[in-house]
Amino acid sequence: MIAVLSGGTGTPKLLQGMMRLMPSEEISVIVNTGDDTKVSGLHVSPDLDTVVYTLAGIVNERTWWGIKGDTFETYKAMKRLGWKELLKIGDKDRATNIIRTMMLDEGKSLSEATAEICRAMGVRSKVMPMSDDPVQTVIHTDSSPIGLQEYLVRGAGSIRVQAVSFKGSGKAKPAPGVLKALNESEAIIIGPSNPITSIGPILAIKKIKRTLSKRKSKVIAVSPLIGNSPVSGPAGALMRALGYEVSPRGVAEVYREVIGTLLIHPSDGTFRERIEELGIRVVLEELLLPDLRSRIKLASTILRLAGFKVGGRL
Ligand code: GDP
Repeated sequence: MIAVLSGGTGTPKLLQGMMRLMPSEEISVIVNTGDDTKVSGLHVSPDLDTVVYTLAGIVNERTWWGIKGDTFETYKAMKRLGWKELLKIGDKDRATNIIRTMMLDEGKSLSEATAEICRAMGVRSKVMPMSDDPVQTVIHTDSSPIGLQEYLVRGAGSIRVQAVSFKGSGKAKPAPGVLKALNESEAIIIGPSNPITSIGPILAIKKIKRTLSKRKSKVIAVSPLIGNSPVSGPAGALMRALGYEVSPRGVAEVYREVIGTLLIHPSDGTFRERIEELGIRVVLEELLLPDLRSRIKLASTILRLAGFKVGGRL
């Protein structure tokens, strides 16, 4: 069994590789919910849905958001009625959000709702929100605090960030099954996700961080940065704002209490010593994941590092 910590763009690519190398039932995914938000009265869980759609084979890989081939008739009809939705939600994607919201309104937990959606979509991996309690990622700027979506919509590069906090994380409990998956997995993988706004909220839950630190030697992380830039998104800007070096060494600093191994890009060998001095093993590996082949290859390297025999299913 493996446990994977995930956001909604980089790690899902790795999951596509993992699910081709081992039985889906043996993969548990613990997902960031710090970006969950209300849109048109619906409880939207962007990262949970991307992970579930990825495992169901229906994710829109152009955006890593929503379902491929989805239509936007409801969005357009709402616009004609004068209602401009904050996020452009597709029709099929909206169905997921409606059903989740109804289940939550009936008193089910986010974990229960996620499990039911997975079952309906034929997803056999265990996909878990990091917590059933609300946690909200807050970006503190020079003016007012904003959510991650607004930060991205307003143009991450142009906004000065003073701090990032995770409202509710102090009281939030890990969702049922999360600590068990972390304790019982042969390997724990922190995928290539934004260390601040995707993995940060998960680590902000004390019991999760404590469990990871305890099992540190089994935790393998993949750098979302190559050289001094993220492959995509605002990870660099956010790391810089929080005082981290924007490099694989900075990623190692963010994760230093919870990982035993960090995979970095072969062109980043110069960072090796400065990462190893933090007590972290460094493995050089191709980390760009443009296609399924590269995703399977990285997944197989990670599984081998974790002691799995990989071969037959490649
Ligand atoms: P979000 O929830 O949409 O922000 O998604 P994630 O946090 O899961 O993913 C965003 C991070 O994934 C960014 O920091 C990217 O640099 C990283 N990323 C995206 N694609 C790749 C890739 O092909 N390789 C690696 N190593 N990182 C990637």
